[in-house]
Amino acid sequence: RLELDGVSKSYGETTVLDRVSLTVARGEFVALVGPSGCGKSTLLKMVAGLEFPDAGHVRIAGTDVTDVRAADRDVAMVLQSYALYPHLTARQNLALPLVMRRLTGRQRLPFVGRFLPGTRAQLAAIGADVEKAGRALKIDHLLDRKPAAMSGGQRQRVALGRAMVRDPRLFLMDEPLSNLDASLRVHTRAEIVDLHKALGATTVYVTHDQEEALGMADRVAILHRGRLLQVASPEIVYRDPSRIEVASFIGSPS
Ligand code: ATP
Ligand code: MG
Repeated sequence: RLELDGVSKSYGETTVLDRVSLTVARGEFVALVGPSGCGKSTLLKMVAGLEFPDAGHVRIAGTDVTDVRAADRDVAMVLQSYALYPHLTARQNLALPLVMRRLTGRQRLPFVGRFLPGTRAQLAAIGADVEKAGRALKIDHLLDRKPAAMSGGQRQRVALGRAMVRDPRLFLMDEPLSNLDASLRVHTRAEIVDLHKALGATTVYVTHDQEEALGMADRVAILHRGRLLQVASPEIVYRDPSRIEVASFIGSPS
């Protein structure tokens, strides 16, 4: 489970997060929503260890990781723009985090962004995991292609697969579907929910799409100007918004 306890963050004079507290149960899918600039991405970065809070604590599975670096947190993050390595095939993109995990510290350096000779044996060892992820995401026929030869939706599925092969204890997604067209978005949305159910990974999913949040999540957390206004099931957020800001963002009758 993930616990945020009074997390605050300012950039200069601007308070971006103001004492945010949120607990996400193990295996739960929480959608974090709110208008542009409300602090959603900043909050995810705190959980991933890409930024550090000025105050408050982040705990993962009971361990205080507030000052722990991203590489040591066992958290996978998928971003809006699929950051795949263009010169690697889908298979290599999927295998890379698994190869990296088998190496430590300085050993990792030469591997960042490229495959070196000697990785073939390692690739064979992790090949089965990659094949399995490929099947789950329906990209098995694309594994030997490079990103340039894939559609946006296919690339995003490879990016999801790369996060999932690691079997992370915590899965963070920052608007992973926003670059896809409407029909692909709806399709991929259902796939993400299915995968989440299959993997049971604790998930925080950032979106500014209310429909996406209400349709996918176990609970919805509404962030407004760096403060959490309400955290509740989609039904409750929709029918019984705690504040006018929640109602106007969710679009529920008030
Ligand atoms: P969007 O929906 O547009 O992605 P968001 O909710 O993810 O928005 P954040 O990216 O978390 O918003 O940014 C929140 C606020 O913090 C914004 O006003 C942004 O300009 C500011 N901000 C974010 N990162 C930095 C930074 N490194 N330095 C200064 N200000 C920052
Ligand atoms: Mg953002």
